[in-house]
Amino acid sequence: MKVREFRQYLLRWYRTCHRSFPWREDPTPYRVWISEIMLQQTQAKTVIPYYRRFLERFPSIESLARAAEHEVLELWSGLGYYSRARNIHRAARLMLERHGEFPRDLAAIRALPGIGRYTAGAVCSLAFHQAQPIVDGNIRRVITRLEGIQKSVPEKLFWDRMSRWIPERQPSDFNQAMMELGALVCLPSRPLCCDCPVERLCEARRLRIQDIIPAARPRRAVQQTEAVILILENKRRLLLTSLHTFSVIPGKWGLPCSQVLRGKSLKDTANALSLKILGRTVPLILCAKIGHSITNHRITAHGFFCRGDFRVLGLRRTKGFRWATPAECGRLLTSSLFHKALAKYRAIDAEE
Ligand code: SF4
Repeated sequence: MKVREFRQYLLRWYRTCHRSFPWREDPTPYRVWISEIMLQQTQAKTVIPYYRRFLERFPSIESLARAAEHEVLELWSGLGYYSRARNIHRAARLMLERHGEFPRDLAAIRALPGIGRYTAGAVCSLAFHQAQPIVDGNIRRVITRLEGIQKSVPEKLFWDRMSRWIPERQPSDFNQAMMELGALVCLPSRPLCCDCPVERLCEARRLRIQDIIPAARPRRAVQQTEAVILILENKRRLLLTSLHTFSVIPGKWGLPCSQVLRGKSLKDTANALSLKILGRTVPLILCAKIGHSITNHRITAHGFFCRGDFRVLGLRRTKGFRWATPAECGRLLTSSLFHKALAKYRAIDAEE
């Protein structure tokens, strides 16, 4: 690989062809960090509104560190993988305790919760302009094709290549250009080689094997799950629980729910759940069917609704349960599955 030539072509292309994202404006370490964590497992167009809201509410490490965890989780609601939000919150507090600001040193950044080699490298290069490499799925694919790699190679090879290629000047643009090339031109299938700024340096293109490397990884089998959700209303308040046994995210507020076991009917499962929570069955009406996906899991949830005077059962004083108005539910619920159920409830309520 002619490294100088490669950098030159790539950087020239990036200057004119990169996409604009809110995190590319004013890339402070804090903003780069938040965006990189949000972008893990999530597409850029999905992240944009979440990123804007998050930065508006928590514009600095200090404001994030001062917040209560539930506030952070509320803003994260819908993005999934809530451990990322908890780690961000813990890391903000640790940063201030240990360093008083965002640390500049790669090792110190990596020592914070939820920050791996990639994220630390992204902060160091994009915000501090240090020549630190990063490797993600896009970059791995671009390197595989540029070098015409036809067999499985250790991860170290990709990091070594990026360490060798990244320039001391413009490390931020270089890292972003590699990712952008993978996202816009060197696509997983049918790469747009005719539009590629480094086509003449590409081994896969020379060998005409760009469409077959890297070999596609076998897709993980989709797992289907059925669940029931209870929407129990008492005087315009809904019953929420944070008990591990009935909730999707342990320790966080959710509507009571339960998986439908093989051989059990929806109604039996809903009744059994009601019995466990209320100590008796109540007249439940099947009112909603909600589809929800998390990675390779497809959840079909069936919402059962009942309106009644449940407070007589003393639930209000039971730990792990609470009654909340729909507006409070909107703030307290952290899973988009429950937000979908809440939307169905609102629709029923509006019809009546
Ligand atoms: S020439 Fe084609 S295969 Fe090679 S890096 Fe460019 S887009 Fe990818």
